[in-house]
Parts: sequence; structure tokens; C-alpha cells
Amino acid sequence: MPDCNETLRELYLFLDGELTDSDRDHIQHHLDDCSPCLAAFDFEAELRIVVRNRCVDQVPEALRERIARAIEETA
Ligand SMILES: [Zn+2]
Repeated sequence: MPDCNETLRELYLFLDGELTDSDRDHIQHHLDDCSPCLAAFDFEAELRIVVRNRCVDQVPEALRERIARAIEETA
């Protein structure tokens, strides 16, 4: 079972689909049990959708800062 730091570190790999099946399962289990990590995950996933749908340059700086803060607070 990964801890919060490990989960947050692997969040990006998870979202990029670069984890193995078993690593993905571990992260998913942690997210099911840990609402701070789940919140960070949701937020990052949401940002990815924004980035995919628009130009990266149009993502507001405030949103990036919110993510960075959310991850710092849960780490
Ligand atoms: Zn956690």
C-alpha cells in the first residue's frame, strides 16, 4: 500500500497511463481510502481535461497555483 507521498508522486504517471496494472491498483486503492489524495487526484485530472480542450497557455496561473498548494498540503 503506497503512502500519500508516493501516491502524489505517481499521480502524474497514473494520469499519463504510464503505471503498470498492479501499480495502478495500489494507487486506486489508496485514493479510495484517502480523501486528501483523492481531492488532489480529481483536481489534477480536471486540469488535464482543461489542458486537453484548450491551449496550455490559457490555463490560468491561479489554477496551477491551487494545484501546487493542494498537493503541498496533502503531502
Ligand atoms: Zn493519501
